[in-house]
Amino acid sequence: MEVLVTGGMGYIGSHTCVQMIEAGFTPIIIDNLCNSKFVVLDRIEALTQVRPLFYQGDIRDESFLDHVFSQHNIQAVIHFAGLKAVGESVSQPLAYYDNNVTGSLVLVRAMCKAGVKSIIFSSSATVYGDPERVPITEESPIGATTNPYGRSKFMVEACLSDFFHAQPDWSVTLLRYFNPVGAHPSGTMGEDPNGLPNNLMPFIAQVAVGRREKLSVFGQDYPTVDGTGVRDYIHVMDLADGHLAALNAVGRQAGLHIYNLGTGNGASVLEMVDAFSKACGKSIPYEICPRRPGDIARCWAATAKAEKELGWKATRTIADMTADTWRWQSHHPQGYQSES
Ligand code: NAD
Ligand code: UDP
Repeated sequence: MEVLVTGGMGYIGSHTCVQMIEAGFTPIIIDNLCNSKFVVLDRIEALTQVRPLFYQGDIRDESFLDHVFSQHNIQAVIHFAGLKAVGESVSQPLAYYDNNVTGSLVLVRAMCKAGVKSIIFSSSATVYGDPERVPITEESPIGATTNPYGRSKFMVEACLSDFFHAQPDWSVTLLRYFNPVGAHPSGTMGEDPNGLPNNLMPFIAQVAVGRREKLSVFGQDYPTVDGTGVRDYIHVMDLADGHLAALNAVGRQAGLHIYNLGTGNGASVLEMVDAFSKACGKSIPYEICPRRPGDIARCWAATAKAEKELGWKATRTIADMTADTWRWQSHHPQGYQSES
């Protein structure tokens, strides 16, 4: 079965393509490479012995999308393409709304023309804002987002659910990711952020490999186990498997399907630092800094709905996440940069 994967050269998309190929799907990748490298295709091929079809182009280019749809018998779309840096979204809101919101609308329009009625969208736990209670269920209120990136995810969710109500024969799946981390266990694919990492795990990994001097821990006065922020870190391979489970369970079923993809467990910043030290055998220098504006104290997923309806559950541990990240980072200290 041919599945269009937008943003398939990126961090989560590339790992998902590997798992899709292993499961017998044929991913067709669209990516403009604004945040990824061509060499990812070689890595997917080396792992799977299959070189996925790749079209370089932008999801906002409707005639480009029409052309891709006309060349294949695409049955579903997994839509990863988008911009994701929270800080950048504050300074460049229009770029974020254009890429993430307009891009999604153009994609859905092209799908309508091509008669493809199944979309799986990369949403985020950020749509829940600062949750009243944890674990966060899919029924928790959404929309109290604190930055343009989060709002763009909320807006696309709203557009897709309105669209579904007008076209109830579609299958629309919204997957709300918690905190994806880790890398392929081979050490050949992983996260490769441009410039200064926004996120905790790639920052720790770059400190461990000597690219950064120390980690800034944003706040130690939260009402959590050790005062640092608590998140639900999920291994990117579990997340990839979650997409396959969604595709298999609901991707061909008309409906509006909404799932959290998380582990159901929270870990603090200092717990992650400690776990990473164990994985890499070094101490990670850090200093306690003021809170980062917009951050919340704690956030972890209720996982029962995905378990019951998708038959999917995250299985990889924090030790797996840190070991796999370290294998990738230590073998590729500069990420994909020197290899494209
Ligand atoms: P990523 O940046 O590694 O991958 C996104 C890919 O999309 C990149 O390869 C980029 O080149 C491509 N792209 C961006 N805009 C495009 C456009 N207009 N046309 C074609 N290609 C385009 O990001 P990721 O971490 O793999 O995230 C994938 C999706 O999951 C994103 O939508 C992101 O917002 C969402 N998400 C990510 C996280 C996270 O922490 N990584 C958490 C929640 C949700
Ligand atoms: N964090 C930190 N230092 C960093 C990056 C992140 O202390 O350099 C903390 C952040 O305050 C939060 C946790 O790590 O408590 C996860 O942050 P990340 O940006 O990875 O994910 P998000 O905040 O989007 O859940």
